[in-house]
Amino acid sequence: MAQKNFPGGKNGEKSRKRLCAYQKLLYKKALSRKKKRTRKNRIFNRKKRKTGKTKKQGIFTRKNLEIAGTICMLSLAVVVFGHAIRWNPFTRREPGTVQREISAGDDYQILPAEEGPCGRPEIIQDFIVENPYSRSGIPLEQVNGIVVHYVANAGSTAEENRNYFENLKDTHLTKASSHFIIGLDGEIIQCIPLDEISYASNERNSDTISIECCHRKENGKFTKKTYRSLVKLTAWLCATYGLSSSDVIRHYDVTGKLCPLYFVRHEDAWEEFLSDIQKKLEKNQ
Ligand SMILES: [Zn+2]
Repeated sequence: MAQKNFPGGKNGEKSRKRLCAYQKLLYKKALSRKKKRTRKNRIFNRKKRKTGKTKKQGIFTRKNLEIAGTICMLSLAVVVFGHAIRWNPFTRREPGTVQREISAGDDYQILPAEEGPCGRPEIIQDFIVENPYSRSGIPLEQVNGIVVHYVANAGSTAEENRNYFENLKDTHLTKASSHFIIGLDGEIIQCIPLDEISYASNERNSDTISIECCHRKENGKFTKKTYRSLVKLTAWLCATYGLSSSDVIRHYDVTGKLCPLYFVRHEDAWEEFLSDIQKKLEKNQ
């Protein structure tokens, strides 16, 4: 049996020398491997510098970062552009007025916004096309009164009445229109700009603003929502033109026509309406 690792004696000495030689050999081999590894690394690093590539790239490559940067810049540009359009005084609309998409194009009017209890209610501007039967385009040079009407067509909507006026340009049935129409749900549609006359109140067309109101029943009584909008709209118009409740009249007061029917037949309801307007105007001062 060989005694390679025997610590003493002749055999021990030999064994120790052999062991030392063996360790030196191992050390040399390890050193050589290390050198090779270092050389490999150096070559790899040199290639990496040349190509700009790394072994493990992931999603944060230079190309991906460039694309992300471009997307961010484009998004920022879109946001800035959007805000610029929104705040452009030539495209901005006064709050409280809504212009409906209409075939006539960009036909709308910026309305004055009174502050306080007689502030402007929400108004949908949907002007009818200029024509001799419902929108003559004749200037309304002074406003001395507000005339209240009812549509005399129970259950019809504000939009239907607005379209009836518009269609007169083709039907030629009569000459008729109104500056405003208040619907069954209290919506307010403006059909004629405030600096043009409407065809609603006969000889008072030339110096008044007209308001038509929808009603559910034949008796012409307005719904609560219609009534509330009528009060708001009339009070705002009075405040805007420096009028008082005594300048608010019925179509009946001009021609004797039973219009608005409920307010002609119920004088007390009409007086109450005028008083509601006056209260608002007083609160506004
Ligand atoms: Zn009338």
